[in-house]
Amino acid sequence: MTTLSILRWPNPLLSARAAPITGVTAGIRRLAEDMLHTMYAAPGRGLAAPQVGVMQRLFVMDLAPKGEAPKPLICINPEIHWRSDVQAIGPEGCLSIPGPTTHIRRPQAITLAWHDLDGNRLEARFAGIAAICAQHEYDHLDGILTLDHLSPSDRARAEAEVLP
Ligand code: ZN
Repeated sequence: MTTLSILRWPNPLLSARAAPITGVTAGIRRLAEDMLHTMYAAPGRGLAAPQVGVMQRLFVMDLAPKGEAPKPLICINPEIHWRSDVQAIGPEGCLSIPGPTTHIRRPQAITLAWHDLDGNRLEARFAGIAAICAQHEYDHLDGILTLDHLSPSDRARAEAEVLP
């Protein structure tokens, strides 16, 4: 397994839209494995392909509590099928934006559908931290970063913390 290098904001690839994956090739399998490896090494709870410079619709996450066995999830061509009307504000960090944790308002729960590496279509309801993580990673596939959710003044403050 390879530790991939994680792109940092303001790399323009992080603001570009990723393309659907048309088939699970050996390359996609290796990418998913390397992304999980890279995410665990960072350490982080989620990583999207554009963050390692691959503009394809794939993200990985692992929401197992600290100290418990890992529960890696590989989401290919994910789609959000439902978003709760109830919203919640939670803290979010991003491996591509080291430094500030931002507070972002999002639907409190979602239903996510995706393909796994075996081509199965799966669907699950996520709430709380899992919903935040899935929406955060999903955003990356559309070139949307945490900074894009902030008001102009909050964004300016966050950007000032990130920029050298
Ligand atoms: Zn992120």
